[in-house]
Order: sequence, then structure tokens, then C-alpha cells
Amino acid sequence: MLFSRRDFVKTSVAGAFAVGMKTPALTDSKLDAARDQEASGPYKRPIIIAAHNGFNYLDDAFAFLKGGGDTLDAALRVVQGPENDPNDTSVGLGGLPNEEGVVELDACCMHGPTRRAGSVGGVHNIKNVSLVSKAVFEHTGHVMLVAEGAERFAVDVGFPRENLLTDHSRKIWLLWKEFHSNEDWWGPGLADPHWQAPGIPTKPQAELWKERVEHLQARAAQLGIEPERQMEAVRKVMFPPTGTIHCSALNEKGEISGCTTTSGLAFKLPGRLGDSPILGAGCYTDQDVGSAGATGSGEENIKVAGAHTIVENMRHGMSPHEAGMDALKRIERTYNGDMNKLRFVDMVYYVLRKDGAYAGVSLWQGYSEGHPHTIAVHDGTKRPEVTTSLFQGWSQDFPPEPNVPDDVRKQYLK
Ligand code: ASP
Repeated sequence: MLFSRRDFVKTSVAGAFAVGMKTPALTDSKLDAARDQEASGPYKRPIIIAAHNGFNYLDDAFAFLKGGGDTLDAALRVVQGPENDPNDTSVGLGGLPNEEGVVELDACCMHGPTRRAGSVGGVHNIKNVSLVSKAVFEHTGHVMLVAEGAERFAVDVGFPRENLLTDHSRKIWLLWKEFHSNEDWWGPGLADPHWQAPGIPTKPQAELWKERVEHLQARAAQLGIEPERQMEAVRKVMFPPTGTIHCSALNEKGEISGCTTTSGLAFKLPGRLGDSPILGAGCYTDQDVGSAGATGSGEENIKVAGAHTIVENMRHGMSPHEAGMDALKRIERTYNGDMNKLRFVDMVYYVLRKDGAYAGVSLWQGYSEGHPHTIAVHDGTKRPEVTTSLFQGWSQDFPPEPNVPDDVRKQYLK
């Protein structure tokens, strides 16, 4: 079904007058953006948008949605893909663990048509936390459950307990522990024939770093990590990654839902919750307006209530693109535009309006040159789309130390 931006604005304005609300005037820039949007409309429904790691699961979910399936169930079909995939180290089974080696998962979802929401945080031993977040509103009068209580609830309603730490993720965690072994008792000790006292550096930094990376790779091999995954493991150890999946789905009738699920920041402190289980930050859906979700620096997104901000911006007339850009500007504002700090932050917002208009926006173009941020879209045609970024350039890994020289980074790590 095709739906034009004009229809959406007419419906929203009429709705606002009907309940006696004040409709804000559109500024020039909003009008310009609305014109741009109109130029690219009319929009297609049904449509699903997701994080890039949802790409392989879009066909099945789209067919389900087109066949009359529920919008939240369609979105959950997409995110269950990475949750069930032991090789996706950012979500569900195989997710990278917290600093104690325990996989700790977060998720939330919102069902537009019935305006229900559920969320779980800090869950161990249950792989499909996205489904558990839905079960929260189906089986309880609560909205959010965390930690042990959430796990016990999941088991009570029929989810199996299983070990989520795959051998591969365990080995990466062990390598991470050993990476810091100058500071603790992990890693080879004094009795190890290869142990060397840290000396006073006599070589240039680049050479020292080259040796350090090669040493880590050799250790990865000793731990049994397959050759083709050793460098990827080294990289994850040096720069603990984030990783998450969000999905929003809209059907032909204009019903809309969204969900987000994650294992969160790798090697986080036990008990740390990011934005993904926070309704209004990692995901927010309003049946009257649209849906938005986030992946990236969770701590920063919580502070700007990213997904809710975006939906409210659209309610007040901004296009999906403008609404997302405004949320990104609020992150910029958090650090008063200090690029020395902002280069270590990154964020991708997935924005879907209820007429089918959508946008993928990001703080930076991507994590590294040649690897731009993309969103996965299916509206009858499945495709990745590069996001529009607020800043030109690539975000930098956090923590900023170790300061790996560029040539070592290029040769070994990217
Ligand atoms: N936002 C997630 C978190 O902070 C991580 C991510 O999206 O990659 O837990």
C-alpha cells in the first residue's frame, strides 16, 4: 500500500485538533525537510527496518508480515536470528560476557496496536530475551523485570535455561583477562618459561605495539581460537565492542511495533544496563506516530532518551531524518561539541514513521574507513542502506588507550 506524507500530516493535524491540542507551527527547515520527504514519497507499507545484523532474517519476517502476521511478532522474528546465532557475539547465545565471564542480556519491546510494552535487563542463561520482554506484558502486570527475577520468570513461562557462553566467546574473554595480566594474576605467571619482566621500553612505539599484537595473536592461537578468527579476537580484546539489534515493523494497515535486544557492552561491569532495555532509549513505539530504536554507545543514548526523543520529534512535524538528527545533536550537546570526546562515541538510530517513511542516521559515518554504518530495509525489496551521519569521518575505539599507532592498526586490526 502506498501512503503519502501529505496524508500523514493531514491525519496528524486533524487528530490534534480533534483532541484540542496545540499544533506547533512548522519552521522553514521543517517545511523544507517535509518537502524533501514528499519528493521521495509516497511510501511503501508493509516495511521492516533493522540493524545490519538483521539483514539475513528479513525475508522470512517480511513474508510473515505481508501474510497478516502481527507487527511485533514480525520484528521478533528478525531479532531472534542473531539471538540464536552462536557466531553473533553481540546478542543472545554467544554474546560476549561481562567482566566475570557471564553473558548478561537486555531487551525491550513495544506493541503499537495494543500500546503494551515489556523489558528485561541483566538476564543470565536465557537466550531469547526479546521474547521474554514480550512475555512480561503478556503474563504480568509489570513492564520491567531484571536479573535473577527476570530469569526465574522466563523459566516459569517456559523458556529453557541454557549456557550462553560459547567456547569461542569464553576464549575471547580469557584473552581479554590475560591482556591485563600485568595488573593482576591472570595469564602466564613467573613459572612460565616464556614469562618476561616488563622492561624499560627501548624500541619505538610502533614496534612495541606490533610485538604486543603479535603476542596476543599467538596467545589466541594457544587458547585454541581458529586462525581466521584470531585477529578479530585480538581486536575485540583491545577495543571491547558494543553490538545490538533493533527492528521496527509496520504493516499495510499502519500498525507498528519495535524491539531491541543485546548482550551489551563486552566485558562490562556485572549489573550494568545500557540503553537497549530502557523503553524510550533503546526502543520506543507510539502507534499514533511511529517507532525508533538505537544501537551504539548506550550510556550516551540513555541521557538523551534517544528513541522517545525521535518519536516525539516526529509527532511535532519533523521528518524521520530530521527527528533522528536532532537526537544526535543532543548527544553532541552532552559534550558541548567537544570533538576530543565525541570521537569516542557512536550511535545509529533506526526511524520508521507510521506512513512508511524511514531513516537511518548515525553520529559518525562508521567505525572504520570502508565500513560505513548501514541499516537493513525490506519493503518488498531487501537492501542495506548507508546511514546519513551528523559528523563526517569515523568514530574511534574506546578505551582511547592503548594508543596504537595508525600503521599497526591498519596492518593488523582493521
Ligand atoms: N547500545 C548497546 C549497549 O549499550 C550496545 C550496542 O548497541 O552496541 O548495551
